[in-house]
Amino acid sequence: MEEIEKIRCLIIGSGPAGYTAAIYAARANLSPVLYEGVVPGGQLTITSDVENFPGYPNGISGVEMMEDMRKQALRFGTDVRAGTVTQAKLAPNKNRITIDEKKEIEATTLIIATGATAKYLGIPDEVKYGGNGVSACAVCDGFFFRKKKVAVVGGGDTACEDALYLSGICEKVYLIVRKNHFRASKIVQKRVLDIENIEVLFKHEVIGLFGEKTVEGAMLLKNRNEKDAQEITIDIDGLFLAIGHNPNSGLFVEYLKTDEVGYIETIPGTPKTEIPGVYAAGDVADPRYRQAVVAAANGCKAAMEADLYLMENGL
Ligand code: NDP
Repeated sequence: MEEIEKIRCLIIGSGPAGYTAAIYAARANLSPVLYEGVVPGGQLTITSDVENFPGYPNGISGVEMMEDMRKQALRFGTDVRAGTVTQAKLAPNKNRITIDEKKEIEATTLIIATGATAKYLGIPDEVKYGGNGVSACAVCDGFFFRKKKVAVVGGGDTACEDALYLSGICEKVYLIVRKNHFRASKIVQKRVLDIENIEVLFKHEVIGLFGEKTVEGAMLLKNRNEKDAQEITIDIDGLFLAIGHNPNSGLFVEYLKTDEVGYIETIPGTPKTEIPGVYAAGDVADPRYRQAVVAAANGCKAAMEADLYLMENGL
């Protein structure tokens, strides 16, 4: 059997949290190893341009930004490797991690930056129009739909907040809710209902999209399973999905506290988990903001905490 590789600082995930952690850890001489995971570069590689990350006055493509972060991490000596964690057994200073079901690692400190995955409806058209009118991030992509018509799908706080955000940018916002009521908090519901250019369509579901190259409209099913069920179409230029995210925390839930959805809970204000030397940064631990700049900041904090931990414990 292959020997167990010992690593002082292991980073899992290659989004803004992972790469920022790598940059800081490498500059602190922690000899970090970063495994890229299933989607190298993370969620930003599947959005369009990033215009809200400070430092890019003209915006930058998500792919390019992640490539730049990767280069920056490499420049300071991060060992960036292709591979996905398939098993994890966490314990202080002895985190046993299996990569691709074969390679074994023992990591003294571990930074979990595995991100989250937006939920999609599961209809073929959202794949067909991905990046061409379908988005799962209103704050990232809303600006591309200035003075246009869009729809948001979902009835929770995210959907309502997305609708409110987009109502300030777009000509018209449809909010498509599958039930006859919201799940969002009352105060946000009221705000949505008070805005003139938001039209809430309760008991509607998106069943398809149409358009030449980009989205030009959506087919909706109204009153599913009822006698008066009917299909309608609406003209829209963009569809925003806000039906929740799945944090990629499955491998760690046995060892770390999570909320009911699965987001890893950290000590407030820090990326520390309840296991000394194990940190969680980025969307896997952030049900609220889910922004690249916040993930990057928490990646930085995680690396600084790992450095301090190794130093204080003479490891
Ligand atoms: P939620 O799980 O709260 O809501 C998801 C919504 O999407 C629900 O209305 C759900 O409908 C709907 N939905 C799920 N699947 C589908 C589907 N296949 N088709 C149509 N609709 C679907 O997710 P959120 O992201 O809104 O919120 C997650 C957590 O984060 C919540 O606890 C929320 O309160 C919190 N949050 C807090 C904010 C704040 O405090 N400012 C901001 C944003 C989020 P149904 O009700 O029928 O299941």
